[in-house]
Amino acid sequence: MEKIEKSISFVKCTFEELNDNDKECVGESLRARKNAYAPYSTFSVGTSLQMASGEFILGSNQENRAYPSGLCAERVALFHFGANYPEGIIKTICVTANNKAGNYKEMIKPCGGCLQVIAEYELKQNQKIRIILYSDTNQVMIAEGVENFLPMIFLF
Ligand SMILES: [Zn+2]
Repeated sequence: MEKIEKSISFVKCTFEELNDNDKECVGESLRARKNAYAPYSTFSVGTSLQMASGEFILGSNQENRAYPSGLCAERVALFHFGANYPEGIIKTICVTANNKAGNYKEMIKPCGGCLQVIAEYELKQNQKIRIILYSDTNQVMIAEGVENFLPMIFLF
């Protein structure tokens, strides 16, 4: 029998401590959040995905009255990337979220389904994706690679 341990790591900081590029990633994700279609949950999520070229792809959650037909902001951006930039490289993905009442003070982490999709794009491009989470209380969490959220990804 063998005990195996994996560790995860994050940087926590404030918005002001970010470099200019990371600040731009946060700004773009906040801009994306404005286009969320979330009439049922009122929980709006915005994602900015920055490619190695420096270009951004924006995504926001899109709900539907047939609930399972909706999609998370992260996957809206990631699948747009996959469909339109098959040779592209994702450098950074930034996520910010809150509900209409502004109840969420902590950074909102991507769901398991989105983490799996991020993991697969990391494998495809053979390069880690920097993940930045931003809260409306000005807190930031940065992880270098999806394994910090999902240490045991689904592989077959
Ligand atoms: Zn998700």
